[in-house]
Amino acid sequence: SRYHDHHHSAHRRERGHSRRNNYDDGHLTHHRDQFDVKTEQNPLRTQTLSTRKDFYERDFPLYRQPVEVGSFSLDAQRRFFNDRRQMRYYVEPDKNPNFDLKDGYRDRYIKRDENVKEKLDHILRWILANKGTLKSKETTDSSRSLDFDFVTWRGHLTKLLTTPYETREGWLLAATKFNGTIYISEVETEAARIERENRPERNKEMMYWGYKFEQYTCADTVDSLPDPSGVVNTNEAFCTVVQTRLADHKLLFSGEVDCRVKDPSTPPPACYVELKTSPEICTPKQRSNFHRFKLLKWWAQSFLPGVPRIVAGFKDHDGVVVSTETFLVSKVSQLIKNEFNCWKPTVCMNFCCDFLSFVKRTIAENDHSLVYLFSWEPYRDVTYSLHRDSQYSFLPRWFIEGMSGSQDSHH
Ligand code: GDP
Ligand code: MG
Repeated sequence: SRYHDHHHSAHRRERGHSRRNNYDDGHLTHHRDQFDVKTEQNPLRTQTLSTRKDFYERDFPLYRQPVEVGSFSLDAQRRFFNDRRQMRYYVEPDKNPNFDLKDGYRDRYIKRDENVKEKLDHILRWILANKGTLKSKETTDSSRSLDFDFVTWRGHLTKLLTTPYETREGWLLAATKFNGTIYISEVETEAARIERENRPERNKEMMYWGYKFEQYTCADTVDSLPDPSGVVNTNEAFCTVVQTRLADHKLLFSGEVDCRVKDPSTPPPACYVELKTSPEICTPKQRSNFHRFKLLKWWAQSFLPGVPRIVAGFKDHDGVVVSTETFLVSKVSQLIKNEFNCWKPTVCMNFCCDFLSFVKRTIAENDHSLVYLFSWEPYRDVTYSLHRDSQYSFLPRWFIEGMSGSQDSHH
């Protein structure tokens, strides 16, 4: 089984189980029923989830076509609007452009404050604003609850998809069950905070380059052109909210979308375009690394919300985009097939699916002040710890009260 259940050694002796030597050994299989019985009998268990690639090499799990159920915008002051005002339109660039990504970094750049931890707040505001029309189900106490197993950011799911292949950065995901739905919100790791606070100037500038590329390729309206003379403000965002299902997990998540194609007959999310920049590819080694590392992240991020195309701008060392290329998300797995020992979409999706099952099984209590903190470091198993009324609690009072209060939002 992919799940290791590490019993307290005292407890193991007490139960007199003649367990095989499977402590810390994910290769040995437990019968699933036996596993479930054990977890019920032993509430003090500690459990971990393996992140080894080979455990997840099985058939691709069911992943239902993502459906956009709404969207929202964050303006220049990072204020929330339950509408599409920040949507931008894709304007195909020249195949060999000359976009200077460094332009405006000093004098036309307004950066979002990364010290402000927004957690799930924008999604929660969207849920409250739309609870009257959102899919919900009756519960025994005749109140209503959301008909979703999980609510999270797309970016958190992307991290889960790439976990079996990640060798550098771990993660912390806080999970809380409220009204039967599990909310998952990332917590910045100590390592990530230290890296962020000590970011070299060159890296800070390169982070700007990605946004600047968007400005060269996006127009604010259907009939306008991109305006590279304007200000880049990273507070602004347009986010899609999608509903889908991964195996037996009903998901609601939101992700930031860069732009859409102008053609009004293409409905979301098929109309969306993800914009990326990457270093120019000059050698076979660079191409191989691009396939093995970059395309994994790009694929995971766009596949989740059903965004079909990625437009890449390849930049030289001085931050000038010298070529562009469109990647169809549906063709990415074919592109990487010739790479030796490359990543596999099925491993990504099966790991994510098993992680969500692990979370579902682990969270027994429906309590908005209780956080199960799942943590992972490269080359380790996923573990978790419990935190009641702690710094990790992330569901705000206004959300709890707004969801518990009047059942309809029509007043
Ligand atoms: P992504 O897939 O990693 O880009 O993340 P999402 O699309 O799920 O975005 C989730 C929210 O987080 C959006 O409101 C983004 O504007 C915001 N966001 C994206 N990247 C970052 C980041 O690096 N730091 C912070 N603090 N917020 C981010
Ligand atoms: Mg982008």
